[in-house]
Amino acid sequence: MSQNKTNEKPKVAFFDFTSCEGCQLNKLNFENELLDFLEYVDIVEFREAMDDKAEEYDIAFVEGSISTPTCIERIYDIRRRSKILVALGQCAVTGGINAMRNDQPLEQVQEEVYGEHKYLFPSIPALPVSAIVKVDYEVRGCPMSPPEYLHVFKSLVLGRKPEIKDYAVCVE
Ligand code: SF4
Repeated sequence: MSQNKTNEKPKVAFFDFTSCEGCQLNKLNFENELLDFLEYVDIVEFREAMDDKAEEYDIAFVEGSISTPTCIERIYDIRRRSKILVALGQCAVTGGINAMRNDQPLEQVQEEVYGEHKYLFPSIPALPVSAIVKVDYEVRGCPMSPPEYLHVFKSLVLGRKPEIKDYAVCVE
């Protein structure tokens, strides 16, 4: 996905679902390298850093698991508008730590978290993004591996297929 004939930069967006946002924070571990690279892309959506919205994305990075009916609607919408969708971190790839609740009755979990207000917060079992929509690439790890993330990011922007290793769940 290198720049096209009009020299338009690839539009990149970041989305977070049910997560601790640790994967997004982990990006700061290689801030300088990432900042150098950002001049070759347009960041068009990133809730933690800006209010802008866009209609379409060349690359959408998604963190977090799908855990509510609203998450399902959102991820369908993001997928519909994305050329490439990348799941970032174990929550997005497998459901991650959120999926531990899937062994318990859902109503019991909701009651423990929300008490008498549980009916205001409809939930579903915590699911990986790929359980709902097609995922093109996955960056594993809890938190996700910064070097692998950078490799995937750069490869996609350069129009190359990323080579993704089989990482362990826990990354130093
Ligand atoms: Fe947090 Fe780990 Fe989930 Fe990343 S994969 S959002 S670090 S719990």
